[in-house]
Amino acid sequence: MSKTILVVAEHLDGALRQVTYEAMQAARLSSTNNDKLHIALIGHQVEDSIESLSYVACEKIYVIDHPDLEQYNPEAYSNALKQVIDISNPDGIIFGHTAIGRDLAPKISARLDAGQISDVTSIENLDDHVVFTRPIYAGKAFEKKVFQSSPWVVTIRPNNISAADLRGEKAEMEQIEYAKPASLRTVIKDVVRKTSGKVDLSEAKIVVSGGRGVKSAEGFKPLEELADVLGGAVGASRGACDADYCDYSLQIGQTGKVVTPEVYIACGISGAIQHVAGMSQSKIIVAINKDPEAPIFQIADYGIVGDLFEVVPLLTEEFKKV
Ligand code: FAD
Repeated sequence: MSKTILVVAEHLDGALRQVTYEAMQAARLSSTNNDKLHIALIGHQVEDSIESLSYVACEKIYVIDHPDLEQYNPEAYSNALKQVIDISNPDGIIFGHTAIGRDLAPKISARLDAGQISDVTSIENLDDHVVFTRPIYAGKAFEKKVFQSSPWVVTIRPNNISAADLRGEKAEMEQIEYAKPASLRTVIKDVVRKTSGKVDLSEAKIVVSGGRGVKSAEGFKPLEELADVLGGAVGASRGACDADYCDYSLQIGQTGKVVTPEVYIACGISGAIQHVAGMSQSKIIVAINKDPEAPIFQIADYGIVGDLFEVVPLLTEEFKKV
């Protein structure tokens, strides 16, 4: 019997986020050829996202477009998504493990009384079941899980499941009228974005991250220059955030963002377990630290023992030549 997997699309400033394509690939990996892929697109003035999705290989795109959904609101979004679910009737639902996905997925799981596996980094489709793998103990071990019942809910960690070529026939689209919940709380209209860079930290391919070794807000400038040259984003340890060298929106780790870039460059970061929890799955880790005994070197692929204020500008100059 064929299954239906529903992917919850995420968008920012009208553009679909990369994690949406990764979630579609995750849906493919957890299904067979006979299964159906549905997409839920919720928001306001989502025409550009519809355009991006229109030639993606899927059976149906459900759209709910309403001014109340302009910004993420847990109550409004979970109600709208439940409307889609009631029509799509999916066996599995996939979200990005983003700030929104982390909030919305458990709400939906609870409403559906569904099992949930969060922060999935790989999917293996065996003959009669699908195995979802997720890191545990701050990335020191991996847990493999299967669902015993459906519907199920999964969130996938961005930058782990690469988005394959998803082009297909023009998908069928269905607009659903938004049913406003009776007790919608007030939404503060202004969204304050506290990001310094041009690239979204959680989706960046290269992250240049600074710790307490950066010593001041001014000390982040060379890191920003390196990130600019590499087309990457700037991140930080909690040590740096606590010391007020940068904004908490840059914090990476157990209580910050989880990133999985191609390259993670840790500058003046000691490598505390809580920091490592947020970056240990990076493909290549480069550590710059003046202390050769710093624990970050234990997980680094490349280590540079030296003063970051000398090393980082040198790297920037060299990369400018490439
Ligand atoms: P430090 O540990 O002080 O390291 C600074 C490093 O810079 C040192 O290794 C030093 O040798 C090096 N250095 C100094 N000067 C230079 C220089 N000029 N050139 C090169 N290297 C230099 N931390 C996080 O990062 N993220 C989290 O999400 C997080 N969550 C936490 C949750 C809990 C419940 C707790 C208890 C802690 C959490 N922490 C988190 C804090 C964590 O334990 C560490 O305190 C923090 O990561 C240390 O930050 P740091 O590496 O920047 O600073």
